[in-house]
Amino acid sequence: MNILLVEDEDKIASFMTKGLAAEGHQVERVSTVADALATSASFDFDVILLDLMLPDAHGRDALKAIRTTKPEVPVIVVSALGQIEDKVELLDLGATDYLVKPFAFAELAARVRAAGRQIQASSRVLCSAGISLDTKTRVVRRGDGPGIDLPSREYQLLEYLMRHAGQVLSRQQLLDAVWGIGFDTDSNVVDVYVSYLRRKLDDPRESPVIETVRGAGYRVRA
Ligand code: CA
Repeated sequence: MNILLVEDEDKIASFMTKGLAAEGHQVERVSTVADALATSASFDFDVILLDLMLPDAHGRDALKAIRTTKPEVPVIVVSALGQIEDKVELLDLGATDYLVKPFAFAELAARVRAAGRQIQASSRVLCSAGISLDTKTRVVRRGDGPGIDLPSREYQLLEYLMRHAGQVLSRQQLLDAVWGIGFDTDSNVVDVYVSYLRRKLDDPRESPVIETVRGAGYRVRA
């Protein structure tokens, strides 16, 4: 994930940046509220880690401004201020989470992962393999093309595959998720519906949106 780290203490910033980079994240670090606002306005971040005692202002000012411009981005406050009142104030202002310094890196990493899962679960438009799927309007498109009309079950199957893009899902997993647990497991209904979807989604000049993984199941390219 792309992480904006707002932290004025070099030692802590370097400890956090190294650890997060080792977890596979890209970290952009700034040390003031002014820079936090400028950077968060110009670039999209998946998570913002926000210190409170900053040289030019209190981190709450950054949080308030970010909540106006980017209401969806998770903001995890990481501060030495550990009083209940501090936590309540920042959480009420829209902080996603609050971690008190000093903290164990493993806990920070876990909280960043949890924030990442939340974004995934709430993200409205899923995009993979050249297909976009809007989970609110249920409009499915290939590239900029027109909406592709999918009956409910085909839509549900595609949404489930796209929510797990890159993962191989067995026929049984797909049956349980889309048709419900207890559905006849000998049935080839999954294969039939995958073929319906392929007819509607695939462009013959490109590799298929839904790949068959021999002996394992199906996967949508991430
Ligand atoms: Ca500080």
